[in-house]
Amino acid sequence: MYKINHFIAGKNTASGARTAPVFNPATGEHIADVALADAEVVDAAITAAKQAFAAWQATTPLNRARILFKFKTIIEARIDELAAAITREHGKVMDDAKGEIIRGIEVVEFACGIPHLLKGDFTEQVGSAVDAYTLNQPLGVVAGITPFNFPAMVPMWMWPVAIACGNCFVLKPSEKNPSASLLIAEWLKEAGLPNGVFSVVNGDKEAVQALLVHPDIQAVSFVGSTPIAEAIYRQGSASGKRVQALGGAKNHLVVMPDADLDTAVSALMGAAYGSAGERCMAISVAVAVGDIADALVEQLALKVRSLRIGNGAQAGLDMGPLISREHCKRVTDYVALGQSEGATLVIDGRGIKVTGGEDGYFLGGCLFDHVTSEMKIYRDEIFGPVLCVVRVPDYNSAVALINAHEFGNGVAIFTRSGAVARKFTHEIQVGMVGVNVPIPVPMAFHSFGGWKRSLFGANHMHGMEGVRFYTRRKAITTRWPEGDVAAEFIMPTLK
Ligand code: NAD
Repeated sequence: MYKINHFIAGKNTASGARTAPVFNPATGEHIADVALADAEVVDAAITAAKQAFAAWQATTPLNRARILFKFKTIIEARIDELAAAITREHGKVMDDAKGEIIRGIEVVEFACGIPHLLKGDFTEQVGSAVDAYTLNQPLGVVAGITPFNFPAMVPMWMWPVAIACGNCFVLKPSEKNPSASLLIAEWLKEAGLPNGVFSVVNGDKEAVQALLVHPDIQAVSFVGSTPIAEAIYRQGSASGKRVQALGGAKNHLVVMPDADLDTAVSALMGAAYGSAGERCMAISVAVAVGDIADALVEQLALKVRSLRIGNGAQAGLDMGPLISREHCKRVTDYVALGQSEGATLVIDGRGIKVTGGEDGYFLGGCLFDHVTSEMKIYRDEIFGPVLCVVRVPDYNSAVALINAHEFGNGVAIFTRSGAVARKFTHEIQVGMVGVNVPIPVPMAFHSFGGWKRSLFGANHMHGMEGVRFYTRRKAITTRWPEGDVAAEFIMPTLK
């Protein structure tokens, strides 16, 4: 059993008596205790960040980028160690853990371009002998609050861009799998990041509350479930902070009658059951259009039955366990609910046996057919290995179904028709759209974010949206007069 502390002012820092247990989801073993920060610990991290800010802001963007570049070489060399830490506390298979780290590194690579990305604009001669230019300056101390499902990648949507822009960052990761963030904090220090620029406070809602009311936090980036995202958006904005809060999802994949069936089935398998369905971009609804439904369900059933499930630390598996005993029960309860709501349970993953994982939080892949839009298994985010097939007669019904859903994170369409795909990308009310791409997670130099109740706030994450979120504009107008300038009592209009 190990103890997981905080990382404040460049040091591994313990705190008081309050802790939470951390489990290995594949075995159910209690492997660690994580310290839970109170307001005093949060204040210590923010104070250290505030003290570091002036010098960090003054560090040239090029030198900030060089530290990130050094960090990139460190994390790449130790990717196996980080992936193992993620698998141990999250349960996902190691290759998937490596995949999330690589997607996170891509944001570091984007942020290494910060000298270019921070450039303002300049207009000569906006008036006679008057020039105007714009600066993009950091906000100060900013906070990130992140979910359990991507312990490395989701924080890396935030902090590389935030610190590259000259801010100091306080991260509150999920208390279910906090180790990845501490490794990253140590490696950032090793790369030369000054103490206080990046801190980790572990904790639960008490730590979150302390961040939200602290006067020295200028901006909050949140990723997690919709009820918490909405509450954080409301409270953070009410206390004058800039907030971006990404919430839950129910992502659809439309299979048009002309789609290549094998491709669509393979895409659905990875997107629905990868990481045991615990991805905000997981596909949880297959929308079968017209007469493709019977063949689609038949082929899916064959593949769901043969999913390779076990301890993610072992090679050659498709998916691991769910995050916790409570969550496994919640997902299992949804399977029972779906049956009572009248959906057809084609494959039942309950009662799966995993050798060596008898106390692990395993649920096999589940497949429902004949799901309708009134059912709770269709409306709610289940966040597990449960795929619902909804049958619709035509393209317009598919679009109407998706646009009526409260979430709008990701969506995909599988078709051979460019015209249908183009119409779909134009009409669909969802933030990230894939055409023959099942999980359209944008690359680091584009930006990530949903619509509707999948995102509260104006900015998506990373890409130029991230740079805009973590900087504020300053507009400067300059004149170097030769000789006296007379007083002007009217609204100045530049000539
Ligand atoms: P969660 O909302 O339970 O927790 C997220 C964070 O909020 C954690 O750090 C947690 O400690 C904190 N938190 C929990 N309850 C709180 C409360 N009452 N007050 C203040 N803070 C609180 O989410 P989770 O279970 O860790 O993650 C899964 C959810 O995250 C899913 O809904 C998933 O869709 C969503 N998610 C969304 C995206 C996206 O990009 N939209 C990405 C990843 C995950």
